[in-house]
Amino acid sequence: MTMLGPMLDAAAQTLVAHADELTALDQAIGDGDHGVNMRRGAEAVLAAREEILGKPLPAALQAIGMKLVMTVGGASGPLYGTLLMALGKALPDAPTRADLSAAAAAALAAVQARGKSEPGQKTMLDVLAALAAALAAGTAPAALPAVADAAAQVTVPLRAIRGRASFLGDRSIGHMDPGARSLALIVTAACAAWEGA
Ligand code: ADP
Ligand code: MG
Repeated sequence: MTMLGPMLDAAAQTLVAHADELTALDQAIGDGDHGVNMRRGAEAVLAAREEILGKPLPAALQAIGMKLVMTVGGASGPLYGTLLMALGKALPDAPTRADLSAAAAAALAAVQARGKSEPGQKTMLDVLAALAAALAAGTAPAALPAVADAAAQVTVPLRAIRGRASFLGDRSIGHMDPGARSLALIVTAACAAWEGA
């Protein structure tokens, strides 16, 4: 698992580094725990790093997913856990770009089913759907961080229809969704580490 190590480290480190920002976003339209939730998950994954990286890619991704389910909590823990486990199920040991595209589509379907939600409802799904669409269109992995950032930005004017932010109704408008931001952070860090690997 030569590439997964640096990608995992980068993703976990960016979540730790941006915990306050994620918390502030969740304070605006939620209960203010998203940064702490994601940091807890990132630290748990880093603590289990060697065990995770000793596995083949599919099993490693599933192990990360399980760890996130057990440690992140909130709505985002089961959703991120589902995302990683779906990727682990869909990807072979040495994925091609076509495998990545198929895995992103499978992850999108799995998270939608778990969250009973759809893209356009101001959640992390808005970023995941944009990534799946970009991969399906043949977008190079180097362009994925820009795709993810743009999709997170698109959540700002949306009214939340799912998750805690939906309790705010129109008052959720004008703020970036915390889960969309955390997914964009993860993708940006993981892609940078991949290119540097
Ligand atoms: P909680 O909402 O339980 O406090 P977090 O603050 O950790 O959990 O995570 C909130 C994020 O989870 C939201 O910003 C949103 O992106 C995502 N989310 C919440 N509910 C759903 C859902 N039903 N479908 C997809 N994503 C969701
Ligand atoms: Mg929250």
